[in-house]
Amino acid sequence: MEKRFVYADHSATTGVRPEVLEAMLPYLKEEYGNPSSIYNMARRAKEALEHAREQVQKAIGAKAATEIYFTGSGTEADNWALKGVFEAYAKKGDHIITTAVEHHAILHTCEYLEKVRGAKITYLPVDSEGFVRLDALEQAITPETILVSVIMANNEIGTINPIEEISRICHEKGVLLHVDAVQAVGNIPIDVQAMGIDLLSISGHKFNAPKGVGALYMRKGVNLPSFIHGGDQERKKRAATENIPGIVGMGKAIELAVAEMEEKNKKLIPMRDRLIREIEEKIPFAKLNGPRENRLPGHVNFSFEFIEGESLLLLLDMAGICASSGSACTSGSLDPSHVLMAIGLPHEIAHGSLRLTFGRENTEEDVDYIMEKLPGIVSRLREMSPLYEDYVNGNVTPIIMKK
Ligand SMILES: *Cc1c(COP(=O)(O)O)cnc(C)c1O
Repeated sequence: MEKRFVYADHSATTGVRPEVLEAMLPYLKEEYGNPSSIYNMARRAKEALEHAREQVQKAIGAKAATEIYFTGSGTEADNWALKGVFEAYAKKGDHIITTAVEHHAILHTCEYLEKVRGAKITYLPVDSEGFVRLDALEQAITPETILVSVIMANNEIGTINPIEEISRICHEKGVLLHVDAVQAVGNIPIDVQAMGIDLLSISGHKFNAPKGVGALYMRKGVNLPSFIHGGDQERKKRAATENIPGIVGMGKAIELAVAEMEEKNKKLIPMRDRLIREIEEKIPFAKLNGPRENRLPGHVNFSFEFIEGESLLLLLDMAGICASSGSACTSGSLDPSHVLMAIGLPHEIAHGSLRLTFGRENTEEDVDYIMEKLPGIVSRLREMSPLYEDYVNGNVTPIIMKK
């Protein structure tokens, strides 16, 4: 095959799609009114803002549009949920339960609450495929527990958690449930009412809206304090002049993503499963990370023994393939991914991990091209690896068994 450009890093970010850009453009050009002003042009901006709120409401099955609060990112929504509950429910308790495989937006906020604000945090273990251990959740809840925060779909290994069961456990004990659904929106169905979710975070740039816009769903009755102080925007809870173009883009993008989800997954699931199958057939000492069922549709993550993920990414990049090792946020750091550690991978093989995540514009030809390049790149890196040489000389036993 001729050299191609294959973007296979949709869990890191996605590009703004043409229909979304089209919807945004008027608000970047002539419709620049401030929704807080009173003239006609400003009212049109306000209408656009409220229309986007309804689009988000419908996409996640919220009861009312007033339960949606726009934020500047998924990270901000996560911060607001955790810090807000900690502050608002201080009288009830100071204990928050989360999991060992959350995004850093959750983990580092919990660390802050623990170290600076005196919160007690429990990090639930997960099983070898990354599913939250429900028995551990049940045991961890105490009378002081005010919040459980669980990732809906894991950004590194694609595991989809059983949110309904988690919510049942939380609500039996009267504890609020926050869900980081940033990787789930547009990829798997979300219904906050049916799933019993109290708070939910989303981020536009993971589903073809621009970067720097997100939202927090706050179920009516869960009354978190204001997160950004200033003007009266977002019902006085999140001050700052609204990012109208970004919000309009996110509204349009979430509507399209949900409408097209089924069709897209009909394409992505077979692509994902073929890539997994072919890697397992053609590359020795390769281990799939995360589950085969209840896995995000376009999500593949493998560990390749005897090689470094970073070198693999560089050679893939030279072949025109954009991928990631574990999580984009940790590249540049030498620590292996906390998610791969939590599912029990030894350091040696966690370092050789590769994440390929597909989205709406990928095709079967992209899988063909990846399979044309990847096996050769892995062999080349192994030929240069002293660890592999030790294995060839019979001095070490591989951790991942040969197929
Ligand atoms: C990307 C991501 C975030 C952060 O969202 P930003 O809008 O980039 O701040 C949070 N949680 C998960 C699971 C993510 O994948």
